[in-house]
Amino acid sequence: MAEFKADVLVLGAGMVGVGAALHLQQRGRDVILVDREQQAGEGTSFGNAGIIEVASVFPYMFPRDFGQILRYAMNRTPQMRYSLADLPAFLPWLMRYYLASSPQRALHSAMAELPLIRRSLIEHEALIEEAGVPELLRRTGWIKLYRSDATLDAALRDFERAKQYGVAGDVLDAAAIAAREPNLTGEFSGAIHYPDPGFIPDPGGLAKAYAALFSRKGGRFLLGDAKTLEQAPGGWRIGGAGGAAVAREVVVALGPWSDLVFRPLGYSIPLAVKRGYHLHLAARGNAVLHHPVLDSDQGFVLAPMNRGIRLTTGVEFSGRDRPPTPVQIERALPKAHGFFPLGEAIDARPWMGARPCLPDMLPVIGKAPRHAGLWFDFGHQHHGLTLGPATGRLLAEMMTGETPFADPAPFAAERFG
Ligand SMILES: Cc1cc2nc3c(=O)[nH]c(=O)nc-3n(C[C@H](O)[C@H](O)[C@H](O)COP(=O)(O)OP(=O)(O)OC[C@H]3O[C@@H](n4cnc5c(N)ncnc54)[C@H](O)[C@@H]3O)c2cc1C
Repeated sequence: MAEFKADVLVLGAGMVGVGAALHLQQRGRDVILVDREQQAGEGTSFGNAGIIEVASVFPYMFPRDFGQILRYAMNRTPQMRYSLADLPAFLPWLMRYYLASSPQRALHSAMAELPLIRRSLIEHEALIEEAGVPELLRRTGWIKLYRSDATLDAALRDFERAKQYGVAGDVLDAAAIAAREPNLTGEFSGAIHYPDPGFIPDPGGLAKAYAALFSRKGGRFLLGDAKTLEQAPGGWRIGGAGGAAVAREVVVALGPWSDLVFRPLGYSIPLAVKRGYHLHLAARGNAVLHHPVLDSDQGFVLAPMNRGIRLTTGVEFSGRDRPPTPVQIERALPKAHGFFPLGEAIDARPWMGARPCLPDMLPVIGKAPRHAGLWFDFGHQHHGLTLGPATGRLLAEMMTGETPFADPAPFAAERFG
């Protein structure tokens, strides 16, 4: 059987793996991108809300407000749902998440991630231009709508904090909402339009366009199972359809599946998932949605994707491999129909994905502590579409001995002991 040789194997062809592969390639590395799917961008990177979240300088931490925790515990909110059967398995992780969400530690996470967030759109713009797909980036920003004065006031307080870090936004009243999105219906106390985030109307398509760029520049793609990775003379070896591949270095960019590699190698990194769903629907009549819009109080996003209006849901705590339980889609659907003129569902069933999360909501990026040539690049939580190319740059700079553009210390695997 053939054995392909390269400098680096990148395991996982989601937005994170493709971003790393491209940045390594730019630095002269011969890279093989490995995925169990035939094409890039078929995992979590396929189904997100498509927002390059440059306005999200504060990661999604565990709430510290007792009333909100109680509402979540009742398991009826659209923003968060948990599987009772999986709760015992999740509780220790949730406790770590809660502890990492103290005001001081949450600020630490936000400040660690800020240089990556600031770099994110710049990296996408460069790759989108090189890949020749300008139609996959829309500069609409996105709008968050609030139905009560209480939720609007809380959002305005957060916005005031975010402004200190350069986040721009327009506060909208009912008339301004109607001017920007004439087809929305509902009683809104107000909204905030963040103009700077990019919107990707086909996130899976963007990962494929980046993978095509990687191939055009001489990169190779191997259909293979990361579980077959093993140490070999001279580095690492993986089995693939039509041959094995060997390289001195390997990058684990398997998103929510990264534990399939790091756990057998003896690392107990607390990677968990926050599942989420989407469903595409047709717009009714001539109704047009101009921006992605968050109905904050009802806990869903509508985004005008190329395929249709994509309804995405909040967080579900359940095992990664458990069968889908799209309760949040079922609950959101009637509300979404009352929010925007939606017609028939375009998808036969809801899509499910799993946001890969560490308790401090920071990714793991850098050298594996105990294995030469093994590198980590996973755990991009709610922001993997946003951060994939920026973290790809950071990782590639570390791997090639360049000065990293951001301090990598907060992302080290060692932070988990
Ligand atoms: C509902 C929802 C909405 C979201 N909205 C946004 C948003 O608006 N903006 C944003 O920035 N982020 C958003 N996210 C988060 C974002 O989608 C993720 O953080 C990101 O896709 C993670 O990318 P990844 O490359 O790490 O993982 P993935 O895209 O999951 O890639 C992992 C790859 O590994 C491959 N793989 C798995 N197992 C194996 C194996 N054994 N062997 C070989 N290959 C394997 C998979 O096929 C896959 O291609 C959202 C997520 C969800 C669920």
